[in-house]
Amino acid sequence: METRGRATCAPLTAAPRGNTLPSMSERFTGSFTQQEPIPEEGIAAALAVLRHGRLHRYNTAPGEVAEAALLEEEFAAQTGARYCLAVASGGYALATALRAVGVKPGDRVLTNAFTLAPVPGAIAGLGAVPVYVGVTAGLVIDLDDLAAKADQAQVLLLSHMRGHVCDMDALMAICDRAGITVIEDCAHTMGASWRGTPAGRFGRFGAFSTQTYKHVNSGEGGLLISDDAEAMARAIMLSGSYMLYERHRAAPPPETFAQIRYETPNISGRMDNLRAAILRPQLRALAIQADRWNARYRIVEAGLRDTPGLTLVTRPAEEDYVASSFQFLLLDWDGSQVAEVVARCAARGVELKWFGAAEPVGFTSRYDSWRYAPHPAMPASDRVLAGILDMRLPLTFSEEDCALIARIIRAEVSAVWQARAAAE
Ligand SMILES: *Cc1c(COP(=O)(O)O)cnc(C)c1O
Repeated sequence: METRGRATCAPLTAAPRGNTLPSMSERFTGSFTQQEPIPEEGIAAALAVLRHGRLHRYNTAPGEVAEAALLEEEFAAQTGARYCLAVASGGYALATALRAVGVKPGDRVLTNAFTLAPVPGAIAGLGAVPVYVGVTAGLVIDLDDLAAKADQAQVLLLSHMRGHVCDMDALMAICDRAGITVIEDCAHTMGASWRGTPAGRFGRFGAFSTQTYKHVNSGEGGLLISDDAEAMARAIMLSGSYMLYERHRAAPPPETFAQIRYETPNISGRMDNLRAAILRPQLRALAIQADRWNARYRIVEAGLRDTPGLTLVTRPAEEDYVASSFQFLLLDWDGSQVAEVVARCAARGVELKWFGAAEPVGFTSRYDSWRYAPHPAMPASDRVLAGILDMRLPLTFSEEDCALIARIIRAEVSAVWQARAAAE
């Protein structure tokens, strides 16, 4: 019986009947939304900024380099990108990248049917129109569907949703052949890579989020990386640099701005020095954190392996992931039975998010929830979406917690699966 960590056993008010196992009463009491505190180094850096009061990134003392500029320099070095720009949010980074590559109102932009609402939102916010590409049972973009739709748009906003990286060699071959500019949404792939190339380094831009539920936490925030000097100069002007772009350290040379500075509107969305100060130590710890996330992921994965009726997501050997969340599939289950699994797990403290629910709740909307854009039926994707269950794995969970969570899910999926088999 579990006695450590957060496991608690519900008191038995009556003697267990039949073959009720003691483990059936295990409960998890941790919080799926509780991230770790900001590291002490980040707190000290934040206090230093608060004490001097120069929070605006262009408000520097003589000889001082702003925290925001240092953050950009360090993230560019970490990803191997030539340029980096820090901005107000991940969604803002996406919209800025779209604008910087020339997306105009009315343009069509390819994007994932399975992603988070800020992704189609960034497209629609520009007056452009999302064209959804399907999702596979591996939870990545369907490359056959992408190839079939490649003539419908000149830009792909590719979302590495929940950290799953598709075959990037194949994707880039399709897009290069069709002349499609790729922008990568790396909200859940900071620190991840495909065949050794970091996520965000395949497309014209890589866009990252530093919002609380991602891999580094500044509350809100975003980072853009690129090797394209002109596109990055436009992004910097768009972000609200005024004529102070020379204060950046991971920016193209001033000549690049010669015309761009007159032609590009200021759509204010800067990063401030307080958030940058919090982020810099977290970026330095990213590889360590990634190992900790992956250790937790593998424990849940091992605990769920060979559960009848449950499909694990097979991850390709080329993918080096940072698993800050876990997904599995109850493929071709009745909706009512998936809902029952969700309810039974919830009763034992395990919060599963279901992408197949009839109504979007919390973060779990999908392509047909975004009714501001056309959403032709996608039956193959609907089958996958109907079976996706998702949960966060915050680093406040111990490895024992993760083993317990897997035992609870396994038990509840098995119970519903067996009841269904008995009824048939
Ligand atoms: C969180 C997230 C975003 C947006 O990031 P914000 O910083 O919250 O604006 C974009 N795409 C995906 C897949 C995300 O999970």
